[in-house]
Amino acid sequence: MAVEQHQKDGQSGYALTTFETVLAWGRKWSIWPFPFATACCGIEVMATLGTHYDTSRFGAEVVRFSPRQADMLLVAGTVNYKMAPVLKRIYQQMLEPKWVVSMGACACSGGFYDNYSVLQGIDQIIPVDVYIPGCPPNPESVVDAIVAIQKIIETGAPRAADRWAAEGRTV
Ligand code: SF4
Repeated sequence: MAVEQHQKDGQSGYALTTFETVLAWGRKWSIWPFPFATACCGIEVMATLGTHYDTSRFGAEVVRFSPRQADMLLVAGTVNYKMAPVLKRIYQQMLEPKWVVSMGACACSGGFYDNYSVLQGIDQIIPVDVYIPGCPPNPESVVDAIVAIQKIIETGAPRAADRWAAEGRTV
């Protein structure tokens, strides 16, 4: 965090920063996830949210099942075409700013379900900020994805949603 500190001879001092920096700091440490878990990857999400991995360290332990209270959409599992409109609706109901993590081969690319019923990657319908490869990915990679989202927030790097908007793509 960019903070300039001033103090002289042990007297009380002051710190200078920007409103944007403080805002980003608050957001970075309170990424409330909405788990959209449809298959086996969801079990790994449950493991991640257990005490062992302690996602409270990142302010990401407050799981929300209302999209309006969540910051990070964590899509874990196979998404078929019937579920695609539901996922889209949940994304639309989340407030800005929001971030999306695609967890596992199925969410990222359809995985080995290369067939008529399965969406071949959720980024066909919503913007994705972080992809987690693997089948199934382990809890460490979910923690890694949370840290990656924190870095996007802290540095002000463009979100996938911003890139979609620049390209004129809509959800
Ligand atoms: S990526 Fe593997 S573990 Fe995850 S939902 Fe697909 S089949 Fe299951």
